[in-house]
Amino acid sequence: MKAEKTAEIVIVGAGSSGICAAIAAARAGRKVLLTDRNQVLGGTNTLSMVSPLMGFSSGGREVVAGIAQEIVDRLAQRGGTLGHIPDPLGVTETITPIDTELLKQVYYELLRETEGIELLLNTSLVSSKVEEDRIISLQVLCKDGVREITGDIFIDASGDGDLAVASGVPYVLGRESDRLAQPMTEMFRIGGVDFTKVRSYMRSHPEQFVLAPDADSMPYTAVSGYFDTVAKAREKGDLTLARDRVLLFEGVRSDEAVVNMSRVILKSGTSSAEMTEAEIEGRRQIDEIIAFLRKYVDGFQNIRLLATGAAIGVRETRHIECRYCLNEQDVVAGSVFEDAVAVCAFPIDIHDPAGQELHWTKTDTLPCYDVPYGVMVPRKIRNLLVTGRCVCATHEAAASVRITPTAMALGQAAGVAAAIACSEERPVGEVDVHRLQRALLEAGAIPGKAFV
Ligand SMILES: Cc1cc2nc3c(=O)[nH]c(=O)nc-3n(C[C@H](O)[C@H](O)[C@H](O)COP(=O)(O)OP(=O)(O)OC[C@H]3O[C@@H](n4cnc5c(N)ncnc54)[C@H](O)[C@@H]3O)c2cc1C
Repeated sequence: MKAEKTAEIVIVGAGSSGICAAIAAARAGRKVLLTDRNQVLGGTNTLSMVSPLMGFSSGGREVVAGIAQEIVDRLAQRGGTLGHIPDPLGVTETITPIDTELLKQVYYELLRETEGIELLLNTSLVSSKVEEDRIISLQVLCKDGVREITGDIFIDASGDGDLAVASGVPYVLGRESDRLAQPMTEMFRIGGVDFTKVRSYMRSHPEQFVLAPDADSMPYTAVSGYFDTVAKAREKGDLTLARDRVLLFEGVRSDEAVVNMSRVILKSGTSSAEMTEAEIEGRRQIDEIIAFLRKYVDGFQNIRLLATGAAIGVRETRHIECRYCLNEQDVVAGSVFEDAVAVCAFPIDIHDPAGQELHWTKTDTLPCYDVPYGVMVPRKIRNLLVTGRCVCATHEAAASVRITPTAMALGQAAGVAAAIACSEERPVGEVDVHRLQRALLEAGAIPGKAFV
């Protein structure tokens, strides 16, 4: 097949990580082709309406900045975020509520303004041609047929590691014990919430909620709780989904909430058939949750459904095997790595793959650890990097490192690393990490980071 498209750096997946990778590589002067199977930029955050972003700060300072912060700044200019505000749940230091519709506009605006990026949507990866441990070309299914793309360096930002797998890189699916992955959630947004009533109930029943010690003094409301109310509704058969709590976040506008409560378990995000079943079940659950909230929870009697994600949110699928595998101890101990390329300030937060609970690993201080370059350098293939959700991590560590600001930060690092590999004509595994770190510092990606 004749190559119909070519670029120095080819990226599969235009989610938050892939977009940051594309911008970083283009700013480094490389010719970039950014592809996605969907029509809409932004992946999980836009298609599946995931908000708030979590984990920009630790110890009172920003640990993720650079392109990720530019995105937040542009959202702020459009009135699309409340900025980085203290987390009322106490799970992380700050959260960043966003308007996911405006995020789409910001992504298109940024890509329009960045020279050197060609965008190709409606383009699904079909296969990868590998010769002597190098990807030679990709076969992609476009609206107008199967096409071939060639490039020098490839970045897998598909979330699921589709390109790495198609190129023969080994991977691990889900958790070690039974290969099950975290559940999927169909996110939705509601209006008409009376947060005065919600806060009043939370104040009088604090034992029913996960709350930061000073949550009551914060102007913003996040809800993780109503445990007894949920248990009662489940007993009566009014709630059948596998969830032990109400989980929702106040929206960017005052009477709106983003609801992260549906839970579809035991389905794989790498199977079209199971994804279809998950989509159908997720939408059934939205109706059930709205009926439950109206009937059981004061302040929700007058809610209305404003929007649902265009696609169910997939928390976990494949972890691509790389030079280093991030593990639970790295997260809990706040590990520091010589080849750090990003910092993650979020704990291990596992939605039970087979049940209703949420396991949050509490530590004395909120977690903050380095993410090493090694988690992005796959085994076997010399001109491929992986970024975002599919980097190499155990099930436990992935439940921390998958968070959006970190996916953005890793994307920026992958873009810069790919640009270096491209200009020096060397395998991604031989990129001078100190040069990469200097470039990230200069770009303001990891403010004040002292590398070891
Ligand atoms: C329900 C849910 C709740 C979450 N809650 C939070 C939260 O509160 N705060 C937070 O910060 N993070 C949260 N996360 C995590 C976070 O949203 C994601 O892990 C992160 O955004 C992943 O970004 P990504 O760019 O790696 O992948 P994605 O956003 O998944 O992007 C991958 C892109 O690749 C494309 N793609 C996939 N396969 C192919 C293919 N074969 N060919 C071409 N294109 C392809 C997709 O269309 C998509 O655009 C949540 C996730 C979920 C699912």
